[in-house]
Amino acid sequence: GIAVMWFRRDLRLDDNTALYHALRSGMQVLPLFIFDTNILDDLGDRHDRRVEFIQLQLHRLNSQLNGLNSNLQVRTGKPEEVFSALLKEYPIKAVFTNRDYEPYAILRDARIKAMLEAAEAVLLTYKDHVIFENREVVKDDGNPYTVFTPYSRKWKKQLEPAMLRGWPVEKYTGNFLSLKADAVPTLESIGFRASAMPFPGKEPDRVLIRHYSDQRDYPGIAGTSRLGIHLRFGTISIRRLVTLAQQVNDTYLNELIWRDFYQMILANYPAVGNGKAFKREYDNIRWRNNQHEFDAWCAGLTGYPLVDAGMRELNATGFMHNRVRMVTASFLCKHLLIDWRWGEAYFAKKLLDYDFASNNGGWQWAAGSGCDAAPYFRIFNPALQAKKFDPDGVYIRHWLPELEGFGYPEPIVNHEFARERCLEAYKAAINQR
Ligand code: FAD
Repeated sequence: GIAVMWFRRDLRLDDNTALYHALRSGMQVLPLFIFDTNILDDLGDRHDRRVEFIQLQLHRLNSQLNGLNSNLQVRTGKPEEVFSALLKEYPIKAVFTNRDYEPYAILRDARIKAMLEAAEAVLLTYKDHVIFENREVVKDDGNPYTVFTPYSRKWKKQLEPAMLRGWPVEKYTGNFLSLKADAVPTLESIGFRASAMPFPGKEPDRVLIRHYSDQRDYPGIAGTSRLGIHLRFGTISIRRLVTLAQQVNDTYLNELIWRDFYQMILANYPAVGNGKAFKREYDNIRWRNNQHEFDAWCAGLTGYPLVDAGMRELNATGFMHNRVRMVTASFLCKHLLIDWRWGEAYFAKKLLDYDFASNNGGWQWAAGSGCDAAPYFRIFNPALQAKKFDPDGVYIRHWLPELEGFGYPEPIVNHEFARERCLEAYKAAINQR
């Protein structure tokens, strides 16, 4: 029989859990990637750089596999259709894959599992994307954590060196099925177009990570690792990065634990994946949802320089610094009283490192509705945030060149007024219980 290794958000050969197990199964391994049209058809933008990123990584994987006398099978379509065709082409006995905790992925995998079982094959899934998943780190009473700090303490306590050991895939690469070399489909052939912009590199910068604690809060400094996209698509192993963080910088390690934390929240509180506020009373807020104000926020035309600089950075590059993500998100929810789900959806379209769990977690944190969120009465003052975190205006001037001349808009709303309005709306919702 044949084993399929189904790559999804783990686009690498090294230290890949499911791949290791597939290669050790005694079967020949057929490497597969599916351009899922359920996902592609939902992307409005034919220039979506995440599709471009995936395509580049598939090229890289394919040339590595060619060197091992194999070839990456890249199919386009709905996963059920692809598997139904593959089952006819090959005597498939098992499909190996790494777990994905997003709502769509869970449904998809359940369908594929049933389908394989009907064909007397199995779907075998592995933990690879995180260090601890689901209910592996829980409170002493067995319930999942909802507050980060005690979670991170327990996470660190439970971590053992063996959990970070890389899977030695390289020892078993003789077990790939030898296949004739098919080319990876071009972007154009799946209806997308390339941009000329480069992507952040995937080699972690040790020196930068060593100084992470002192530099990470200043958007004008290149002080964060920019590895988000690589963690999202698994081009770098989380075990490798955690090992480095442990040696070099504890604050950086904590950020990687936040990533596990939000994945864990999503897995344990499925309502969060269903558009619900984590704290349900926040769903009583009467949002204003003014479309013109939303458009101004998206375009970076609110008249608040730090907010606008952030949105311009996002629109131009697909990246926004974390400090500025917090400020822009807070501004949308609290100053403009626009439903955080609108902002969540906009970030989902634009962020190269977009990840359902972290994005939802970040938005609900900013809106105050999330687990361990900013309390609702703490409202960022965008001008003070700019003073504190961009004291020389380096970041703001970079993204808002017109600030020096004419044409920069007046503030879309007065800060003090917006603050009072927000407190009233939030209080009314929360007291309704
Ligand atoms: P670094 O600062 O170098 O951190 C290293 C890695 O740690 C990141 O790549 C990321 O994987 C993880 N990480 C860091 N901070 C967080 C955090 N607060 N929560 C979860 N993981 C974290 N992160 C995403 O990966 N995808 C998202 O879609 C996303 N949306 C966000 C939306 C909002 C409103 C907010 C406030 C934050 C969001 N974040 C998201 C978290 C954070 O802003 C980004 O992970 C970070 O800015 C990415 O840049 P970096 O790779 O240079 O991160």
